[in-house]
Amino acid sequence: MNILVIGSGGREHALAWRIAQSPRVAKVFVAPGNAGTALDARLTNVAITDIAELAAFARENDVALTVVGPEAPLAAGVVDAFRAAGLRIFGPTQYCAQLESSKDFAKAFMQRHGIPTAGYQTFTDAAEARDYVTAKGAPIVIKADGLAAGKGVVVAMTLSEAHAAIDDMLLGNKMGDAGARVVIEDFLEGEEASFIVMVDGEHVLPMATSQDHKRLLDGDKGPNTGGMGAYSPAPVVTPEVHERAMREIILPTVAGMKKDGYAYTGFLYAGLMIDKQGQPYTIEFNCRFGDPETQPIMARMQSDFTELLDAGVDGKLDQVEAKWDSRVALGVVLAAAGYPDAPQKGAVISGIPAETADGMVFHAGTAEDAEGRAVVSGGRVLCAVGLGDTVADAQARAYQVADQVAFDGCQLRRDIGYRAIGR
Ligand code: ATP
Repeated sequence: MNILVIGSGGREHALAWRIAQSPRVAKVFVAPGNAGTALDARLTNVAITDIAELAAFARENDVALTVVGPEAPLAAGVVDAFRAAGLRIFGPTQYCAQLESSKDFAKAFMQRHGIPTAGYQTFTDAAEARDYVTAKGAPIVIKADGLAAGKGVVVAMTLSEAHAAIDDMLLGNKMGDAGARVVIEDFLEGEEASFIVMVDGEHVLPMATSQDHKRLLDGDKGPNTGGMGAYSPAPVVTPEVHERAMREIILPTVAGMKKDGYAYTGFLYAGLMIDKQGQPYTIEFNCRFGDPETQPIMARMQSDFTELLDAGVDGKLDQVEAKWDSRVALGVVLAAAGYPDAPQKGAVISGIPAETADGMVFHAGTAEDAEGRAVVSGGRVLCAVGLGDTVADAQARAYQVADQVAFDGCQLRRDIGYRAIGR
């Protein structure tokens, strides 16, 4: 069978890499892909991003199944368009994707269905929003309603920071339309984890657990980013927390969507905050796999991924099982100079080592130059993954892989996995 993966990041490279290992697969197309997917002989890049053109490509190239990586095409209705054209695709519809594309939608949904999350209120008027936070006090969290690529959230430790964030979004138009409404949330304390599952409208198949590192600098300092590294499994998700997250968050979300008349299909990602008592709260939903969580999770997947995806499209996730390498996988993101504010493009990348049984490099913001060399073309450039029997082993291996790679201005954290190692 031929498979189409939509997207161009490290997540899509890892998804396509794992899919290509299935004996059932003839061709894997990646649209638009990156230098890593271009250099991998098992993958074929396709320079298309327009939804109608993607559907036409899928039809003309006998694509049996399409998998969507990023949120933007989902929020733009790629799943609805493919289904209308009679094409098989794994992802949520535009309506269901609002769980990610509108924080107000997600919060109202969670409140309606009794899913644990921080208390909140939504505002379009800056003066009312300011009065609300003044009454509530800091710390408090200000979020742009719409998609903002991880940059629409301000965790305000003081009232003046909270007021400034409100003014930036509602008066200064800093986030554009995404910030024309703001959700103001109570501040939650605890440890975060990424809880990602596959959903077929009714049944749920959990993926391996993981934890990412959103801040740019060691010790979780510096600005928020798309993610600087991740590892799987996440020991903070004990069997008890796992059971609770399924029972209190994931299953009620899937049942709630069905009850509302919009069965959820695709990957569903609950960003959890787990408090000291082991109670998980939903910080956010994403309607897709995480990046960089996908890279270590795919490194551990031992099932034939195409069988899981097929079951996801056919409503048969209750009939398959996901198998995982018992080792820990840990991914370190190598980011461009100037990331996250103003990533500098163009640096030539050297030293990417060949894949081994316990180390690999996934590409993200890379492109091929005229001479066929990989060059930096985006903020997060590569993700070096190591596997090992412990988090410390996986970490050591990941940094061995990362340290072979060189490009001007490369930024990376040196402490990915520190919470698990410190346990
Ligand atoms: P992403 O890039 O993950 O899609 P996002 O823009 O959707 O990010 P959130 O995940 O909602 O934003 O928040 C980003 C980060 O801000 C969280 O990972 C968490 O660290 C922090 N955060 C969000 N909400 C809260 C909260 N209520 N209490 C404490 N911290 C929070």
